[in-house]
Amino acid sequence: MDLKSLIRDIPDFPKSGIIFRDITTLLSNSAGLKYTVDSLTQKCQALNLNPDYIVGMESRGFIFGPPLAYQLNAGFIPVRKPGKLPAAVHTIEYELEYGTDSLEIHQDALDHGAKVLIVDDLIATGGTAKATAELLEKIGSQVLGFAFVIELTALEGRKKLPNLPVISLVEY
Ligand code: 5GP
Repeated sequence: MDLKSLIRDIPDFPKSGIIFRDITTLLSNSAGLKYTVDSLTQKCQALNLNPDYIVGMESRGFIFGPPLAYQLNAGFIPVRKPGKLPAAVHTIEYELEYGTDSLEIHQDALDHGAKVLIVDDLIATGGTAKATAELLEKIGSQVLGFAFVIELTALEGRKKLPNLPVISLVEY
């Protein structure tokens, strides 16, 4: 299936000069959604990735993470922007192009040594995924790899990540 034909390009969003890859048109297509989740599942299985948990980043990691977790018989754990999670959290701060941002996870979300696969809709610079992996390593979980629907290859985000399997379905 040609997933690119289901992903909509929005020029100049969120700011001038950026082409935003809009996955809402992929999500609303029943065959496209099924193909996306099935393809991520098959690639994980081909690499023998058997996570205890899928960790997905706010907010589009919340869309692809749970169906993939369901398929892999794993649990799902959200990593959120600051101030959103109700119980005690661990926080990691990371660099943006201008300034910094933070991500949080519940302190009791997973057992020490739990095996985790990090999932998001898209990898651009890799900053979000790298920070999530660092947050997980800091709390003693074992990151098995990363899975994305879309990879913006020119930004070389995967080079920022630890030397682990990185799955992506569509490259721009
Ligand atoms: P990075 O941290 O790799 O530079 O950026 C990746 C994060 O930004 C992901 O959480 C992703 O959802 C979001 N993102 C950046 N650009 C796009 C885009 O063009 N389309 C979508 N759907 N998400 C984007």
